[in-house]
Parts: sequence; C-alpha cells; structure tokens
Amino acid sequence: MSSNSGIRIPSRMPLLLTHEGVLLPGSTMRISVDTSRNMQLVKSRLLKGTSLKSTIIGVIPNTRDPEHDTEDLPALHRIGTAGLAVQVVGSNWPKPHYTLLITGLCRFRLIQLLKERPFPLAEVQQLDQMEQLSADGHLGELSQHFYQAAVQLVDMLDMSVPVVAKLRRLLDSLPRETLPDVLAAMIRTSNKEKLQVLDALGLEERFKKTLPLLTRQIEGLKLLQKTRKPRPDDDKRVLSVRPVRRGLQFSLDEEEEEEDSDDTALLERKIRAANMPEPALRVCLKELKRLKKMPQSMPEYALTRNYLELMVELPWSKSTTDCLDIRAARVLLDSDHYAMEKLKKRVLEYLAVRQLKNNLKGPILCFVGPPGVGKTSVGRSIAKTLGREFHRIALGGVCDQSDIRGHRRTYVGSMPGRILNGLKSVGVNNPVFLLDEVDKLGKSLQGDPAAALLEVLDPEQNHSFTDHYLNVAFDLSQVLFIATANTTATIPPALLDRMEVLQVPGYTQEEKVEIAHRHLIPHQLEQHGLTPQQVQIPQESTVDIISRYTREAGVRSLERKYGAICRAVAVKVAEGHKVAKAEHVPPGPDAAGQEKVEAEGEGREDSLGGSADLALPPEMPIVIDRHALKDILGPPLFEMEVSERLTLPGVAIGLAWTPLGGEIMFVEASRMEGDGQLTLTGQLGDVMKESAHLAISWLRSNAKTYNLTNAAGSPDPLEGTDIHLHFPAGAVTKDGPSAGVTMVTCLASLFSGRLVRSDVAMTGEITLRGLVLPVGGIKDKVLAAHRAGLKRIIIPKRNEKDLEEIPAPVRAELDFVLAACLDDVLNAAFDAGFPAPRALPRLASKL
Ligand code: ADP
Repeated sequence: MSSNSGIRIPSRMPLLLTHEGVLLPGSTMRISVDTSRNMQLVKSRLLKGTSLKSTIIGVIPNTRDPEHDTEDLPALHRIGTAGLAVQVVGSNWPKPHYTLLITGLCRFRLIQLLKERPFPLAEVQQLDQMEQLSADGHLGELSQHFYQAAVQLVDMLDMSVPVVAKLRRLLDSLPRETLPDVLAAMIRTSNKEKLQVLDALGLEERFKKTLPLLTRQIEGLKLLQKTRKPRPDDDKRVLSVRPVRRGLQFSLDEEEEEEDSDDTALLERKIRAANMPEPALRVCLKELKRLKKMPQSMPEYALTRNYLELMVELPWSKSTTDCLDIRAARVLLDSDHYAMEKLKKRVLEYLAVRQLKNNLKGPILCFVGPPGVGKTSVGRSIAKTLGREFHRIALGGVCDQSDIRGHRRTYVGSMPGRILNGLKSVGVNNPVFLLDEVDKLGKSLQGDPAAALLEVLDPEQNHSFTDHYLNVAFDLSQVLFIATANTTATIPPALLDRMEVLQVPGYTQEEKVEIAHRHLIPHQLEQHGLTPQQVQIPQESTVDIISRYTREAGVRSLERKYGAICRAVAVKVAEGHKVAKAEHVPPGPDAAGQEKVEAEGEGREDSLGGSADLALPPEMPIVIDRHALKDILGPPLFEMEVSERLTLPGVAIGLAWTPLGGEIMFVEASRMEGDGQLTLTGQLGDVMKESAHLAISWLRSNAKTYNLTNAAGSPDPLEGTDIHLHFPAGAVTKDGPSAGVTMVTCLASLFSGRLVRSDVAMTGEITLRGLVLPVGGIKDKVLAAHRAGLKRIIIPKRNEKDLEEIPAPVRAELDFVLAACLDDVLNAAFDAGFPAPRALPRLASKL
C-alpha cells in the first residue's frame, strides 16, 4: 500500500483519463469507464493482460468538462498516479461500461505522449521514490504533527466499528511519508484539493497542503458532536459523516444526496403500496432503513436495492378473478384441441370440482405423453378458460434446489428461484403454472430440486413458501399447478404421489390429418401472413407428410413441416406480386380452377421449384402436391422400408415403447460357425439379454417339434454354430421384457430358413415354458405399427382389454392376433403357420 514500497512501474503506460476524482497513491478508488478511449484500454489491457505489469495503468485526472468528451485528446494534466487494477466489472446497463477498482501505487510525470489511439500511451517517469523521511529536522516535526492530527481524527470516530479500529492500527504501521496521500483520500476533500495534493511533489509541500484539510475535518466533527446528541446507530462507519456535510461540504454532493433520498422515499412509498403481509413489510422497512444509511458505492447497496425492488414487484395481493363457466370451458377445449377426449373429459371434471368446492386442494394434474401431443397446449387452454395468467416453467435439466427455491442473499449474484420469478413476470398471485418436464429433474450435490418442488406443490405447506432469496413467506396456495412429463418412470416417487397422472397417448394418422387441417395449417398460415386463397394443402399431401416426412407420436415435426411449406410459399407469393398478371389466365380459387392447376402439374412444379419468373399471380392458390412437397421438403425421409428389410430369414419386427411414443423395431439374427456362443448387440439392458437366452433355450428344447436345424441340418440349431442377435438402432439403449416373442420369431425364422410375414409386428414377454405374458404401452405400440403400414399385430392374450383404447378406425384396419403361447405367435407370424405343413413345399414346387 505504501507508495515507496519499491514498486517499479513501466516506463510506458496506457493512460486512463477520469472525471471521477483524483486517485492518490495508497488509496483505492472505483472508476466508472464509459468513454470509447477508456473502454478500449480496459478491453485490450486489463481484460486480456496476464502479467502484473499489464494491469498497471496511469490514471490522469481529467479536469475538463465531461460533456466535452470529443475525439481529440484534451490537454493532459502532467502528473498522474500509477494504479493497479484489482477488479474489473462489466455491465450493459444503462449503457455499456466497466467499473474498475484501482489502487494507487505512486505518482508519475508525463514525459511524452507516444500515441493517442485507440487509447493514449505515454512515456512516463516514476516519482515518489527517493524521499526518505528522517525523524528529526523540520520535516520530521511536520510529519509528527500530522500523525497526531490523524490520530485525533480517528479517535473521534466510533472505535467499536471494526473499520475504524483497523484504521487506527494502520496509522501506526504505515510509513509516515504516505500519510498525507492516504488521509487526503479518506477525508472529505474536493477534487480540486486532491489535485493540489497530487501535484505536491515534494514531501514537505504535501504535508503542508494536507494538514489544513485534516484540521478542517476535525473541526467539522467537533462542531457536529456539539450540535447533535449522538444517536446509538449513528453512522460513523463512513469517515465522511453525513451531517458534517451540512456546514462544510460541497454542493455537488448535496444534490446527489437529495436525489438519493427522493429515490428512497419513492421506494418507501412503493413498499407501502405493495400491500404485502405484515412480516414482509417489516423486513422491507428494515432493509430500507439500512439502505438509507449505506453509501451508494457500497456493493451491498445494489443488492439491497434489488431485493427491495423485487419485493415491491411481487404480486402479494394482486390476482385475477376466475371466470369459470363449464359449458364455455368445454367449447373452448373442444375448439382448441381435436381428439384427446379422455383428457379433455378429465380436465373438465377437474375444473367442475374446483368450481363447486372453490379451492385448489387436491392432486396436481400431470399430463404424461410423447412430445408434441398437446400437453402444453391443454395447459394453456385451462388458463384461458379460467381467465388466468399462464406461465411455463421448464424443469428439464434443473438439478439444483436453488433453481426452485432461490439463492440466499449472501451469495454474490444471488437471485430468487423460478417460482417467484414466474410470479413476478405474470404479476398476479393466482396464475396457472405449467411445470414442464418434471420427469427430467436432475439431482446433484446442490440438493434435490424434487424436494423443493414437493414443498411448492403441497397444499398444506405452500401457503407459506419461503424462497431463500426472499427469506419471507409467500403464499402460493392460489397458484394452479399443472405438470407435464414424457414418462412417469423417472418422476421422483414422492412427487408422483402428489399428482394425478393423465396419459396423453400419440395420435393416429387420421387424427393427425384432422388436427393438421383444423389447427396446424390455419395456425401456420396465420403466422406466415398467408391466406387459404394463396395456398392449399390437400389431404393427400398431409397424409404424405405424415407418413413419409415425419415419424412421431405427436404433431410437432408435422407442424414444423407446414412451417417450411409456408415459408417457401411466402417467397413465391411475394415474388408473384411483382410478376405481370397478364400472362396467366387466372382461374378463381374454386375447385374447378384447382383441378386445372393440378392438371398442369409440370408447369407449376417449376414455379415452386426455383425459377422465379414463372411465379403465379397472387390470386391463384398454390397447391402443395407431391411434386411441391419434394421441392420444398426434399426427398421423403421415410420410404416404406419394411418389406425390403424382410427379404432374408432371421428378421422380425417388434414393437417398442419409448417416452417419445411407440416405435417399430427390427430384430436381426445371423448365424456362423462356432461353438454355441450368443452375441447380443444394440445396447441391451439385462432384462432383454435374459429374454434372448430364454428364446434360444425354448427354441432348442422345441427344435424337433418345429423342424429347426443348424446350417448343416443337425437337429440342434446351436451345434457348431454361433448366433448373433442385433437390435437397431444400435446407439439407443433398450430394455424390457416385451421383445421376447420377437426374438423367438426371428430365431425361428433363422433356424427354419423361412421368411417372417412382412406385415406382422409383435410384442409380448415369454416364459421358459413358452407362455406369452402381457406387456405395457399397447396403444402406443399399435399406433406405431399402424403408422408404419403394418397390418397384423400379435399381442399377448391378456392384453386384449387394452385394445379398447385404440381408436375404432385404426382397429378396423388391423388384424389383431391374441397369443397365449409361443405356438400362437409363430403360427401367426409365418405364412401358412409354423411349422410349415408338409404339403406346402411340394405344393410350392408344383406351382
Ligand atoms: P407437448 O407439450 O405435448 O410437447 P405442445 O402442446 O407443445 O406439445 O403441442 C405442439 C403443437 O401441436 C402445438 O402447436 C399444439 O397446438 C398442437 N397440438 C397438439 N395436439 C393438438 C390437438 N389435439 N389439437 C390441436 N392442436 C394440437
């Protein structure tokens, strides 16, 4: 801290020009940087510099009016202070600026300016090095006198404050020659006076300049102590005691202060108007009192202020009035959502009970289903029917309790949790909160967010939910919580216990077509500023998009595809406006016109394909047919590959359930010479591996019955043979018992050399004795098989009841085989049953 501490400053230094005061050696100052020259300096020297030297900069007081901060460098003051930047903080508000914390090291003299841009760089000469103070002589006396005055000043302050006690100790330990600088920086002095101290290069001169300032402060304090009775909580912590200002200080500070008190008065009014409960009000007023006493430069000032502002903004007693009318709710839900009857019914029941009971206690609804099936959208409709605000809180990946419950205010950068942030942004205390993806909550060392959520959702506790940041209770009991998830398997059990799970399964193709034409297409057209007169998407194209460009349980990528189509059409329509209409004889947007357009397929394809000059006049609708689809969306992503893949023995189609909906899954097997090893690939879990062993054992034990052989025709299929079973897609982890029947079928095909029917998919758990046990997710699996164009579906007999959930049109198109044992499965999976009737091969050869 001493200016004579042997530091050597570089002989060339970048210069920081500041209006904000005078940095003196041995003191620390906060400098706000916002001029372009200074910003450049900070960016290229302080933020990039790694060595100590690069963080030493020359600070030169700029005496010119800050308003006149022009391109040209002002005339520079010739004496400056070399400073060590100890902290750089950047912010963008209200405009980009940095705040530097700089400690003064020693004076320097400006010898020569080396360059001005992008920031001034100068050759400098270090000062403050040579003079040593001897205890005797005139200077010694002067310094002793000065020291005593300093001690007197500090003694007038409250010693019980730690900073003051430290200052007292410092006075003794600091070299005497540094005292003028240190004290001049601490006591209340004007910039002009500080500048005089800076310019006093000789030590004697410096003592002489500073001593009167010190005396003035002492006198001021004395005056103050006489006129005011000391109050116990008088703020003596800050050396420049506030009331001293009244007689002695400078008008500039006075104004600042007034503004300041205006500001806090306004805040106080807001606090009183916020209508908060008694305990919160008390905390606020206490904090406000603290705030009033803090100097603005203290970091805690900003913290406390932010806190108070949040408290004021929170909707302590603001709420919307519910306007629930069950009949209207039904109409709204129906008009916003096609299908999902079961869910809509349950939601209406829930709302009806609420209306009758008039409180929210009860289970939290949790919508569980694949992405894009409308879970969020139903949540939004519920808010709309109730006339409440809606807010979505994404919980995916949240693994820290403080995300929910906030950080304690003692942490730097602490803030409230998502619940309170949500309340602040909706501005009322009874919104609908959609807790999205509760199944993706994580857990980490920072505590379990699920536990915090439990507290939020528990009607017994949530009327006094305490966010760590707020530290006072906030009543959440009026908030309506709804949760969504892709699967219940990963929802923490305690949380699941609080919720009523409503399954939202995927849609059938027919449902998707309806949803597309009733909701998605109109919505996308509107979003892209198009009208149905400009673009028509026929049903066949929708079916094409659903089956060849998307493969999903919900309708999210379907909606994206429409977005892509609308964008492409928007370009055409925009271009079309510029093209002369005369070249075309535009038929009206009626059906006949449309047919005509379709008949001229080739020409129209061009117009969509790329050549801009053929664009259609705006009044002729652009019809999106297969050609247009190909141009806009590219070649189909999912051509029907099913039959192609079933051209060899040893392939069968299974059905899998994933959180994203049902999927079809090809199981492949091959055999090679070996010694009976079984290799399994495709990231299988333990249960699945065991099913594979079960399948092999069962087939071996029944090899005779079914005429199964190894490649050489031996009755033990595994003799001299290794088997490899693979489950694509290889990178996706799979587990569960339901692939048992598929493995048996696939291996039976391999061992018998016969092809599995290409339109069959199956699911079911097996036992060693050849029974087929029920499995879950039947609806999703059946829908996936239907999407893939399969016709026959083998399911366990005991899953028969699940078929009721499957929409009638889908059921009508499928042939369900209910299997009680593996015989049933194999008979249904192979043409002409299994084993093949002996007559069949002969019959075949005759043909
Ligand atoms: P999720 O929350 O289940 O992932 P979203 O609610 O975000 O899905 O739905 C995706 C899009 O699909 C939304 O634009 C939504 O309006 C639409 N959508 C989904 N299901 C339906 C439906 N049954 N009727 C109308 N639109 C639907």
